[in-house]
Amino acid sequence: MKNNLIYIFWMNENTGIFWVRNDFRITKNKALSFVSNNHSKVSAIYIFKKTDFENKREAQRWWIYKSLTNFNQKLKKYNINLELMIADTYESAFKKILEINNFSIYWNKIYEPSYLRFDKNLKEKLEDKNIFFKIFKGNILNEENEVKKNDGTPFKVFTPFWRTAESIYIDKEFPKKDLVKKTKSKIKFLTDEIDYKKILPKKNWYKKFEDYWIPSEEEGLKIKNDFIKNKIKDYGENRDNPDINGTSKISPYLSFGQLNVEDIWESCNKISEKKKGYRKFINELGWREFSHSLINYFPEMLKENLRKEFDKFPWQTNKKYLEAWKKGMTGYPIVDAGMRELYKTGWMHNRVRMITASFLVKHLLINWKEGEKHFRNCLLDFNEANNVAGWQWVAGCGADAAPYFRIFNPILQGEKFDSKGTYVKQWIPEISSIPENFIHKPWELKEKINNFELGKDYPFPIVDHQKARETALDAFQKIKKN
Ligand SMILES: Cc1cc2nc3c(=O)[nH]c(=O)nc-3n(C[C@H](O)[C@H](O)[C@H](O)COP(=O)(O)OP(=O)(O)OC[C@H]3O[C@@H](n4cnc5c(N)ncnc54)[C@H](O)[C@@H]3O)c2cc1C
Repeated sequence: MKNNLIYIFWMNENTGIFWVRNDFRITKNKALSFVSNNHSKVSAIYIFKKTDFENKREAQRWWIYKSLTNFNQKLKKYNINLELMIADTYESAFKKILEINNFSIYWNKIYEPSYLRFDKNLKEKLEDKNIFFKIFKGNILNEENEVKKNDGTPFKVFTPFWRTAESIYIDKEFPKKDLVKKTKSKIKFLTDEIDYKKILPKKNWYKKFEDYWIPSEEEGLKIKNDFIKNKIKDYGENRDNPDINGTSKISPYLSFGQLNVEDIWESCNKISEKKKGYRKFINELGWREFSHSLINYFPEMLKENLRKEFDKFPWQTNKKYLEAWKKGMTGYPIVDAGMRELYKTGWMHNRVRMITASFLVKHLLINWKEGEKHFRNCLLDFNEANNVAGWQWVAGCGADAAPYFRIFNPILQGEKFDSKGTYVKQWIPEISSIPENFIHKPWELKEKINNFELGKDYPFPIVDHQKARETALDAFQKIKKN
């Protein structure tokens, strides 16, 4: 009893650090809840790791800047300062932090191998220095090593993975509310005060994002609630059509933890009539779990093909094609619309992600790694697990992947999922005068309409679909024979 009292007194006197990572929220934030309930002086620290952002993740710099600003406002109500530290690596950041005395530190897990590795090393250092710490479950339903086959090996196929994962999660105790408590007084832990603006990217292309997104917990919750109230029932029918605003668009909020997946699950569970839309949506959360499980069981897939036969694939290097793809100038409207939507809004519809990715790897024969890099730079919702798994799925070299020989026809995909051309016209205004029946194949238009001139106003296709398809199938045959 006496020891307990001493411990509580010591916890109260010590500064509690909440290490903010991808968890910019108050709701269901285990580490933040714990620290605020056990320490009277709390500081929140975000470490901007420069090496993660050098020539990559430009779009996300803006999201983080906004998240810091909005989260700081929220934390003020709890007497907590959100302090920013900029460092080359976490190692160098913690070298400085560990020089400061009298603190305990708490954080939620991120399910990426490099983060989990770092946690392990930091744990040892903290133990050596007798610094109290606690690591909490992160933004996931099941822990990274929980879902396995009966023989203990990891799943590589989605359906059995998700059947098992879902039943494990359902059997768990209902997660706690994890309320955050107002602390006694506000403190500053770090000596330097760094302006959040320092992490904005140099190019100001991010300014356009302001028209589409508000990176805050309130906004994430509003979007989630609106989706569950009004859209989830039709999600099964609408989710594949980029011309309909039928998906949730919660992805960046999930990637940065403004939303918590257990909370989403709980909200979905409260739906009284659980129809097809509900099931489909829950399955998508399942794909997110599957990607995270894959990269932790097979961390090599972050850099290499999961299916080794693809190591011999004759990828082409073609800067001109790659640039045309990035700029949305391939001459295939559905591909170009997607790439322009990405550049302008930092997000792209899932169906169009599949079409654009397939075009890069199958029509242009460019290695999926180039596409993964570009998405990483431009997506606000980028996360290692979903991006790498998504690319490898499309390329055919991942787990439970689309077979390589299933090559998306960009014309038919456009006609099927954007039948009136509403989506392509939104992102490629220069083709808006083209009639519906030619909108996905403007090169078939024989006469000039409203002065529209192919080759001048919009490019001719950079490759011929039929020929590209055959070349891709030939290349695939070669790796099959080897
Ligand atoms: C080539 C490629 C790259 C991708 N890169 C990313 C990425 O970096 N970050 C990312 O979050 N998603 C990625 N995805 C998956 C998917 O496209 C997005 O999650 C989805 O479009 C986000 O929009 P939404 O929130 O409206 O999704 P909804 O359809 O409303 O789905 C709800 C949530 O489920 C999850 N989800 C949905 N589809 C998938 C999927 N196929 N795989 C894994 N999780 C999924 C996401 O967290 C999403 O927010 C990628 C897909 C492909 C094909």
